[in-house]
Amino acid sequence: MVKYNISQKHAECIGCQACVNVCPDNWVMDSSGKAKPKKTVITTAEELKCNKEAETSCPVQIIKVSKVK
Ligand code: SF4
Repeated sequence: MVKYNISQKHAECIGCQACVNVCPDNWVMDSSGKAKPKKTVITTAEELKCNKEAETSCPVQIIKVSKVK
């Protein structure tokens, strides 16, 4: 099974909610007004597509989707 890791530089999040809007299945706003991922390891094509959209949509480019080797 191919796995992907979802990372985010949480401290650098500006709280724009773009990731939450494009990928609500895996991104939520926390009590500090920053986004956080619900899951940091994903395995399905649907999850990959969704999180890739979040990665692309983040204006400060702090979301990274990377294949786990
Ligand atoms: S898109 Fe980026 S800056 Fe905006 S809420 Fe998500 S992680 Fe934070």
